[in-house]
Amino acid sequence: MPTTLKGSCRCGAVRFTVASHTPVPYQLCYCSICRKQQGGGGFAINLAADARTLEVSGENRLGLYRAAIEDDEHETCEVSTGERRFCTACGSALWLYDPTWPELVHPFASAIDSELPKAPSRVHLMLKYKASWVEPDIRGNDAAFDLYPEESIEGWHRKRGLWVE
Ligand SMILES: [Zn+2]
Ligand SMILES: [Zn+2]
Repeated sequence: MPTTLKGSCRCGAVRFTVASHTPVPYQLCYCSICRKQQGGGGFAINLAADARTLEVSGENRLGLYRAAIEDDEHETCEVSTGERRFCTACGSALWLYDPTWPELVHPFASAIDSELPKAPSRVHLMLKYKASWVEPDIRGNDAAFDLYPEESIEGWHRKRGLWVE
């Protein structure tokens, strides 16, 4: 049975549950969207879960943000296909859903109320975009990437025997 993640915003107007095979909070994203929207310490931790199982109460309080992403090489700006959801009452960032990968939804670990397993090692990504004052806490078995790692969230869990059937 996959793990049921229960989440909510700070004020409780929005609550959700979603099933996850990959509940380890190991992926720290330093991109400007994650750290501005959620990551007060310079990064946000993104989980992955099964989008079909997402159940939401308080849906009418959900805000939608589609970030504009600048392309350094081409000096253009595109609006992300990613749908970032947050509570319009208290501002808590809740999850990211991208219709390009419709089977997945990415809750922020910060929005989850149920117990999460501790990560045996972490992946630091999008370090190219980190704020200059942030000194990433990269420990022994951690991996660090300027952009995205090649290993998927599923792959990372399976390789370490942490995939929840
Ligand atoms: Zn709220
Ligand atoms: Zn990010």
